[in-house]
Amino acid sequence: MINTLMIPVTKSFLPPKADFDSFLDRAWQDRWITNRGQLTKELESKLTEFLGVDNVLCTTNGTLPLQLALKLLGKKGEIITTPFSYVATLSSIVWENCTPVFVDIHPEYLTIDETKIESAITSQTTCILATHVYGNPCNVESISKLALKYNLKVIYDAAHAFGVEVDNQSVFKHGDIATCSFHATKIFHTGEGGALFANDPELLAPLFHFHNFGHNGPHNFHSVGINAKMSELQAALGLAVLPYFNEIKEKRKLICQMYLSELAGSNFQFLKIRENTNWNFSYFPIIFETEEQLLKVEKSLNNQQIFPRRYFYPSLNTLSYIQTKIIMPISESISKRILCLPIYHDLSPESISKISSIIKDQLIINSK
Ligand SMILES: *Cc1c(COP(=O)(O)O)cnc(C)c1O
Repeated sequence: MINTLMIPVTKSFLPPKADFDSFLDRAWQDRWITNRGQLTKELESKLTEFLGVDNVLCTTNGTLPLQLALKLLGKKGEIITTPFSYVATLSSIVWENCTPVFVDIHPEYLTIDETKIESAITSQTTCILATHVYGNPCNVESISKLALKYNLKVIYDAAHAFGVEVDNQSVFKHGDIATCSFHATKIFHTGEGGALFANDPELLAPLFHFHNFGHNGPHNFHSVGINAKMSELQAALGLAVLPYFNEIKEKRKLICQMYLSELAGSNFQFLKIRENTNWNFSYFPIIFETEEQLLKVEKSLNNQQIFPRRYFYPSLNTLSYIQTKIIMPISESISKRILCLPIYHDLSPESISKISSIIKDQLIINSK
């Protein structure tokens, strides 16, 4: 049982049940609940239009498309990646028998530091796999120039970036392949779910086969494959949530603005959004001066039934299954000091004030 007074880091947006039911009714009528039925196809076409992209392939979650992308483009080589992401970015690389090569992050944008990529490239490098952290885009222009110069492929883990635009175009248009997560904790969701985006039809075709066991008709197989298909039940939820997306984003924008004004004047570092970005307000991280401060604040919030999340922690280069130990000073320092505050569409102004004053009180006590 969830205590109604509890404030978690996020709450899934649930559409009116009747909206969901009306989509489910169509699956019931057809007795067709998976294998790319009408709902999955409709969700793909609505997403294509909503996002202004050329194509979308819906998948069962946001991790499998990363693995499909690496299967196609990684070629068991070295993958230049960020230590500051969710573990799925890294584990997909290792799972596909590729070798992660970490490059540290920019201290303010928190995305991979493009100026440090070139020196990490070797003859074994096949791809750059970078994350648009909290929906804040990587420097896509510099990364694409580097990729061209060294003949590398670019994959973006855009799990957080639904609805984000760079120069008024969907961020999913960048990279050879971009992936998104529609997990229940993400800003747009289908319960579990995800998608991949590839502008080049030559890449999209093999990815399509990969996501459906490699099938080419019932008895023929193009290639090896796995099951990464979205079900009709997931698509029904997505179709019911999508019409509310702009409203959800606007509410989150107000929440971010309120946090910023409540916490103004404290010594926090806030996320710096890259220039020319229309951001989606998907997370509200604050960076403390020290880990001790973070731990004290976290504890006092927890005592009041408020549960922010240390995200991302720990820095991925420190995980036990990474054999080559390498220090990533910025990512390690940030991940020890960053805390994502609660943010969801119906978080009340009273809750934001309460959270902010607990944080400020704790810091005043600390500084005495
Ligand atoms: C959520 C997330 C994923 C994984 O997506 P799932 O849909 O949970 O499989 C991958 N990368 C990042 C950065 C994420 O936040």
